[in-house]
Amino acid sequence: AAKGAGRNRYSYFTPTLQVAALNRMRLTSDLRGALKSQQFALYFQPIVHLGSGAIHKAEALIRWNHPQRGLVSPLEFIPLAEASGLIVDIGEWVFHESARWVQRWRQQVHSEFQVSLNQSPLEFQREGSSYQGWLAHLQSLALPGQSLVVEITEGLLLDASSAVSNRLLQLRDAGIQVALDDFGTGYSSLSYLKKFDIDYLKIDRSFTRNLAPDSSDMALSEAIIVMAHKLGLKVIAEGVETPEQRDLLAAAGCDYGQGYLFAKPMPADQFDAFLRDNAMPRAASIVKAN
Ligand code: C2E
Ligand code: MG
Ligand code: MG
Ligand code: MG
Repeated sequence: AAKGAGRNRYSYFTPTLQVAALNRMRLTSDLRGALKSQQFALYFQPIVHLGSGAIHKAEALIRWNHPQRGLVSPLEFIPLAEASGLIVDIGEWVFHESARWVQRWRQQVHSEFQVSLNQSPLEFQREGSSYQGWLAHLQSLALPGQSLVVEITEGLLLDASSAVSNRLLQLRDAGIQVALDDFGTGYSSLSYLKKFDIDYLKIDRSFTRNLAPDSSDMALSEAIIVMAHKLGLKVIAEGVETPEQRDLLAAAGCDYGQGYLFAKPMPADQFDAFLRDNAMPRAASIVKAN
């Protein structure tokens, strides 16, 4: 029986691994042509001020519309883009699109509108990189650095290499703000929050998901919020899906919420229309929320 089981496992896993490897190779080669063929789209998801309901921030999230496979998740293709070096060009495209849209929303929605964009660890630490080009481009659009927020994960601060602190200093010099994404999932050492200049903490959605009065995730979220505020950081809760979660977070003093309760990420032109209807909190919706 043991022998049979062994053979089954063998014949099951080997082709699967090969298929997975082949799949990655094909996707990587498709990825090379994706920028030129305009297969990427930048989606935006609102970040809502919990006290007022106002929307003056959004996160940019990339989508790959593969001609045969349809939408491929960034969780699947960003690692391939990192391994192949394509992440550099993709990241530049995300930056340019973000700058174009934030310029419009600063003019038409709110003068301090902010767009946050994600940088993966390799992208962030890339050797010889600087934010000079970004700053020059922002200046050419008459945008201050504060128009943008760069989201990085806390794991980066752990290794605390000079590359990481240099990059954070460059961002600060450019006036671009920094958010710690997925906070609470890594080996967060809180001392890093003091050491580095961080503007926002994004509480990971694994905490938001299980929020209930008197739950341990509630206690952790409250502690994170109090600590962040004492250090001068603003807090954004990810993955807010229910009115209960929103209300518990608001009561705990959380500054902003992001999640399907408010809106899913949507294509830029759709988000543009969404902002026209929803950026300013309406009296009616505030009354309804209470
Ligand atoms: P992230 O930065 O933590 O982004 C939040 C993810 O949660 C997004 O997934 C978003 O669609 C999803 N989300 C938002 N609200 C909810 C909710 O209420 N419930 C649930 N279940 N999910 C929610 P998405 O867009 O698939 O992106 C996944 C990850 O891919 C991002 O995680 C980010 O790490 C990475 N990523 C996305 N765009 C880029 C990019 O332009 N560059 C880089 N380097 N990474 C990116
Ligand atoms: Mg993010
Ligand atoms: Mg996140
Ligand atoms: Mg995440």
